[in-house]
Amino acid sequence: MAAYDDDNIFAKILRGEIPSFKVYEDDRSFAFLDIMPRSRGHTLVIPKVKATDLTDIGHDDLANLMSVVQALSPKIRDALGAEGFMIQQFNGAAAGQTVFHLHIHIIPRWEGESLKP
Ligand code: ADP
Repeated sequence: MAAYDDDNIFAKILRGEIPSFKVYEDDRSFAFLDIMPRSRGHTLVIPKVKATDLTDIGHDDLANLMSVVQALSPKIRDALGAEGFMIQQFNGAAAGQTVFHLHIHIIPRWEGESLKP
């Protein structure tokens, strides 16, 4: 696995160097809207620690991140009147990861509504 790159786009978002639409923040995590949403309200949740992917984060930080995902997902679903939500997470370029700061996708879903590409 390549070393963590401090210039990745989510590191810049965390440092406030590029803008994002914040959904939630605490001392250990940050959530913001995906710039190319696959559905309305598509949100990314990231840890503030430097981690390239799921294999690169300690148990405690991961537990904290997933607790935020668990708490935030139904709030996003209910705020948008969605009927369900999908959680997605890619590890490595071969798996489709394009930004190498660990992130969890929360993708709200509606019955019969396909995902955008
Ligand atoms: P993929 O690009 O295949 O979805 P990832 O899981 O690495 O793989 O997802 C990176 C996500 O980051 C993409 O959904 C992309 O739209 C989103 N993204 C890239 N740049 C920004 C940005 N500046 N602000 C918000 N979301 C971004």
